Amino acid sequence: MEDLIAKTAEVLATSNNAIALTGAGISTESGIPDFRSPGGLWTRVDPGEFSIDRFLQNPSRFWRMHLDLKSSGDFDLASADPNPAHYALARMEQMGILKCIITQNVDNLHQRAGSVEVVEFHGNLLRAACMKCRSLEPIEDVEARIESGESEAPRCRNCGGLLKPDAVFFGEAIPSRALMISQVQSQKCDVLIVVGTSLQVYPAAQIPLSVKLKHPPAVVVEVNREPSSLHEQVTDILMIGSAGDILSRLLEALETRVNLH
Ligand code: NAD
Repeated sequence: MEDLIAKTAEVLATSNNAIALTGAGISTESGIPDFRSPGGLWTRVDPGEFSIDRFLQNPSRFWRMHLDLKSSGDFDLASADPNPAHYALARMEQMGILKCIITQNVDNLHQRAGSVEVVEFHGNLLRAACMKCRSLEPIEDVEARIESGESEAPRCRNCGGLLKPDAVFFGEAIPSRALMISQVQSQKCDVLIVVGTSLQVYPAAQIPLSVKLKHPPAVVVEVNREPSSLHEQVTDILMIGSAGDILSRLLEALETRVNLH
């Protein structure tokens, strides 16, 4: 592993436009389960519950499930804190090495760790958005309205539209701004660090494929507990293990390198 970390530090230190693509695996060490690992969320919840069709059929049922998941501690994003992997990426941005993070996560932990250029590809589950006028409300306010008995499926205070978590559900489009910025960043990038994602969800999984197809192709570094579904096609440097451990050691190698030059 030490040689892979040294090689990655070299590639990053000499890069011009390094970016990261992160997924649920970067937050498991913060106590938030991912979807597909053993014991992940899909072993406890039917993925269909996160489809837009089912939400629209019965929003109260969705909100009840949301509150149950939260109170069971199984998916309580508000109580989780960033871990060393989030902090390492934030530090790499401060050092001028990492230009942006495209995250599939909806947990706000990159921002809380201090990362500034964060593209929320799948939205953010700590906000609710009105499906009609798009105005936003902290999700905890919506939860409080349900728990107080005011409504089982709260509506927007401005226009009366239905409120939905501001995360992308199955069957919904990726927010156009996030999609556009991701495409621009992928075109510019020369190094892509993929962390904690199985690369099974599209179009996010298209990003590593697209950076390998452009000329010149970017170097793809992958940090995962299990190799992603695309590692044979896209990954140049594969580091298997804990994101917190590997990214902390990578940061240390980068800081040592910067101090030496
Ligand atoms: P996934 O569950 O399909 O894959 C997670 C990947 O992370 C796996 O390859 C696993 O081996 C790896 N992993 C798990 N723990 C790790 C660790 N500590 N260190 C390194 N690697 C680790 O997740 P995905 O590809 O992100 O797709 C799931 C979708 O679900 C995403 O689109 C995301 O929006 C959503 N999701 C988000 C959160 C969150 O915001 N924290 C949590 C669950 C799901």
